[in-house]
Amino acid sequence: MKAGKLTYHHADSIDSALALNRRFEGMGKFMAGGQSLMPMMNLRMAFADQVIDISRIAALREVKAVGDKLFIGAGITHAMIEDGKVEDPARGYLRHVAAGIAYRSIRNRGTVGGSLAHADPAADWPTALRALDAVAVIRGADGTREVTLAEFQVSVMETSLADGELLQGVLLPRLSPGARWAYQKFCHKVGEFAHSIGAVVFDPAAGIVNVVLGAVGGKPVRLAKVSARLADGLDAQEVASSGFMTLLEQDLAASTSLDPASYDFQVHKTIIKRAVMETLKK
Ligand SMILES: Cc1cc2nc3c(=O)[nH]c(=O)nc-3n(C[C@H](O)[C@H](O)[C@H](O)COP(=O)(O)OP(=O)(O)OC[C@H]3O[C@@H](n4cnc5c(N)ncnc54)[C@H](O)[C@@H]3O)c2cc1C
Repeated sequence: MKAGKLTYHHADSIDSALALNRRFEGMGKFMAGGQSLMPMMNLRMAFADQVIDISRIAALREVKAVGDKLFIGAGITHAMIEDGKVEDPARGYLRHVAAGIAYRSIRNRGTVGGSLAHADPAADWPTALRALDAVAVIRGADGTREVTLAEFQVSVMETSLADGELLQGVLLPRLSPGARWAYQKFCHKVGEFAHSIGAVVFDPAAGIVNVVLGAVGGKPVRLAKVSARLADGLDAQEVASSGFMTLLEQDLAASTSLDPASYDFQVHKTIIKRAVMETLKK
């Protein structure tokens, strides 16, 4: 199937993209890499009469230091991160995540901003950047505002972006030399969307200790009890204990609506256990 009739517009700056969208009363669709938007439109799961191509806006590919953080423009592609063309302030974590997204042809065009704005529960960046305590930088008619990734995604394919607002990029913390991370992803087939994602960023010196579960049917969830246990000083032996598994089960029961006896519950449990174990062994 092909998308319905649409009018294609091309914006060469953030201001012109926002102005164009105001003309359509905020109902135009921004297109970055088109890797999610076009399939959705072809399948008639997304509709837009007016498509505004933002892929050639140089400001969306900006990468710069902002205070002690690194700003990465929304238009940075997965491949640019995978290839090391963009600095990785998270000590190899971003590069590892990028390399595991879909196939190379999708990574060549798909963008970090498109992935976050699309907010597919099974996508990689929403979970990976939530675990990193990233902050979304949003541009609208009234200027710029910042929203933590914990709050940016609201639900399945729903974000806190208002009609007509554009995601300009993300602010990322720089992890300290002692930081450890792990990113475990379970797919039935390589290149597929994840069935479960376990992301751990452990950097007490930077104030970041997050164990986050993704591909859980809604927004990524931070597992509070397991994160707190990790912050308190967990060792690999304890992760294998029944006490830790009980804690993990309590966290999963509190943050998902899954039946503890279900296959999905068991898969998520295994992926989180693997991610925590990998973090501790680094
Ligand atoms: C076969 C296939 C397999 C895939 N597998 C995976 C996978 O394993 N993991 C994964 O994470 N992803 C996967 N993807 C999705 C891919 O990573 C997309 O590139 C990404 O989700 C969307 O990025 P994009 O730049 O193409 O966005 P687009 O498709 O252009 O846009 C997606 C949505 O975001 C909006 N948008 C885009 N940019 C902005 C912005 N700056 N501000 C506001 N709104 C914006 C658009 O209006 C649209 O609603 C897969 C896609 C395909 C087709």
